[in-house]
Amino acid sequence: MDYLIFSLLGLIFGSFFNVVINRLPYGKSIVFPGSACPKCGQEVRWYDNIPVISYILLNGRCRNCGLKISFQYPFVEIITAVITVWLYVKYGMSILFVKYFILCGLLLCAGIIDLNTALDDNFETGIIPDELSLGGIPVGLIFGFIEKSLLISIIGGIIGFLLLFIPGFVYKLVTGKEGMGGGDIKLFAMIGTFLGYKPLFFILFISSFLGAVIGLFFIHIYKRRDYPIPFGPFISLASIIYIFYGEEIIQSYLKMIL
Ligand SMILES: [Zn+2]
Repeated sequence: MDYLIFSLLGLIFGSFFNVVINRLPYGKSIVFPGSACPKCGQEVRWYDNIPVISYILLNGRCRNCGLKISFQYPFVEIITAVITVWLYVKYGMSILFVKYFILCGLLLCAGIIDLNTALDDNFETGIIPDELSLGGIPVGLIFGFIEKSLLISIIGGIIGFLLLFIPGFVYKLVTGKEGMGGGDIKLFAMIGTFLGYKPLFFILFISSFLGAVIGLFFIHIYKRRDYPIPFGPFISLASIIYIFYGEEIIQSYLKMIL
């Protein structure tokens, strides 16, 4: 029964995250108006707006004009439901559950927006809206305060900022080119306020590793070295991996080398 409630909660929040993902980078309000088809302008009726189920019933198309609906909608809804149930299984109904749920929501939206805008010709590079990165920082600090670890939260934010700012700054000094996007730096600082400074090294390592592997894969497929690969999605993915398995991975790694 609990699992059912938490899956439904996840689906509803996933539906909201879709609105954030589709509107925030374009400066549109996430509250008003209701969703409408981008082609025919038909407002989406409530019975066509039920997470996942409507997508299946409509066969992934607008009821009015048949425009294909992005697979992103059911994907984000299902992922959010899985994360919600998984967090509940791992952390129960605790302050950690609430904290990680909010952080996962911010990471999911930031990662997908960065990827979407990187692929969108209207944007020069991928972007991570400040509302998510800078907006998350006070929330991370509030959780630090509640958990009586405000200092660790503050240091986490500062180290998160420096960890990406310094290599980007050095790269720019040496090559004259922008190496690290400002959005990535702010996102990393935000993660630091939620998780403290220790996990940041794990997250940086895993996200660089994933980014390098996928990057080489893209270079191999497209035969282009200048394909701009956004870093935000990897930072988000690595942080979510840390939330679920970070401590276990670090422990087994330490056992291996000691
Ligand atoms: Zn339509």
